[in-house]
Amino acid sequence: MSKKILVVGQGLAGCVLAWTLAQEGADVTVTDHLQLPAASAVAAGLINPVTGKRYAKSWNFEVFYPFAMQFYQNLERAAGQQIWFNYPIIRLLNSVIEQNEWSLRAGQPDYAGFADVQTHAGDWETFVQPGFAYGYIHRAARVNFPALRAFIHQWFSAQNRFLHTHVTANNVADYIPHYDHIIFSEGYYGQKNALFQHLPWLSAKGDVLMIRIPAATADIQSILKKQITIIPYGDGLFWAGANYYWEFEDANPTQQGLEFNRSELRTMLRTHFEIVEHRAAVRPVLKDRRPVMGWSTEQPKVGIFNGMGSKGALLTPFWAAHFAQHMLHGTALDSTVDIKRFGR
Ligand SMILES: Cc1cc2nc3c(=O)[nH]c(=O)nc-3n(C[C@H](O)[C@H](O)[C@H](O)COP(=O)(O)OP(=O)(O)OC[C@H]3O[C@@H](n4cnc5c(N)ncnc54)[C@H](O)[C@@H]3O)c2cc1C
Repeated sequence: MSKKILVVGQGLAGCVLAWTLAQEGADVTVTDHLQLPAASAVAAGLINPVTGKRYAKSWNFEVFYPFAMQFYQNLERAAGQQIWFNYPIIRLLNSVIEQNEWSLRAGQPDYAGFADVQTHAGDWETFVQPGFAYGYIHRAARVNFPALRAFIHQWFSAQNRFLHTHVTANNVADYIPHYDHIIFSEGYYGQKNALFQHLPWLSAKGDVLMIRIPAATADIQSILKKQITIIPYGDGLFWAGANYYWEFEDANPTQQGLEFNRSELRTMLRTHFEIVEHRAAVRPVLKDRRPVMGWSTEQPKVGIFNGMGSKGALLTPFWAAHFAQHMLHGTALDSTVDIKRFGR
């Protein structure tokens, strides 16, 4: 008989896990009250192979990237809607140190096919401030999280497998008799869950702007990156962000976040832009910046799948499959992501 599993939270993590389990034949129900600002509703869903000040290659990119691409492309076939967008990233380099560091990286054998140096800013050429050098990042992509979430919501709702309830550590005992497993995928809100409060959370809030660039009438097919990232959403609209705040009161947008993004945009663009919307949310991050999955010691049927941090698009499909195999076939959890690494 197939296992009955309740997934709590319909952000990216809950969606990908629920879909993966259902594809494996599990009897899955999803619940979300959909009233909290979800990271997945605010994020751009960017997958960037080369990140940070040192332009380091993302953790296990060669394994996670093809896995993610196949997952999202299968899902978009089921959804009948594009979810995965291949876009190169144009990295603006504004100092000799940055240019040298970039050239050094681009020349390394394991960066071949990922990063190179160019003399122009591609379809951004007429919009960027003068004085930059350009690094190009290939094998980057954007995953349309809102489209993915809408499809999963509709798919589970159509089978009466979507509940609009708030399951918490306080009332989870009411649900336990009805399921083999209950998995909390609450994103940042998971750090308030009494069953998982002992985890070393280091969640990071971010503000993002939706902007319109009136002069960008042609279809821009690449992403522009300096400290923040500008991503085309079509029809002259762009996603721009994001800052990282490790100390914050709530998930609401702040004036400080607005100013930060606006002033970063001005260092990148010489063309006029209009701010259409300002939003914020919190990335669910653990101190070691690795996902977390496994079981509560107090409630052994209750588990967690969380901690995708700022790389949810890249990491979630691979680790959802890993956790699903563990749940359905008893395979061991990798110690890098197992909740047991935090003791208790
Ligand atoms: C500003 C910003 C920019 C980002 N940019 C990118 C990017 O470009 N690329 C990338 O890969 N990642 C990015 N991220 C990170 C990405 O958003 C996360 O890794 C991912 O969305 C986390 O998904 P999640 O499902 O864990 O959490 P969330 O998306 O926050 O979802 C949690 C869900 O759980 C629900 N929930 C919580 N508690 C309960 C409960 N008790 N009962 C029922 N439902 C509950 C909430 O309503 C919510 O829908 C960004 C994040 C932010 C904040």
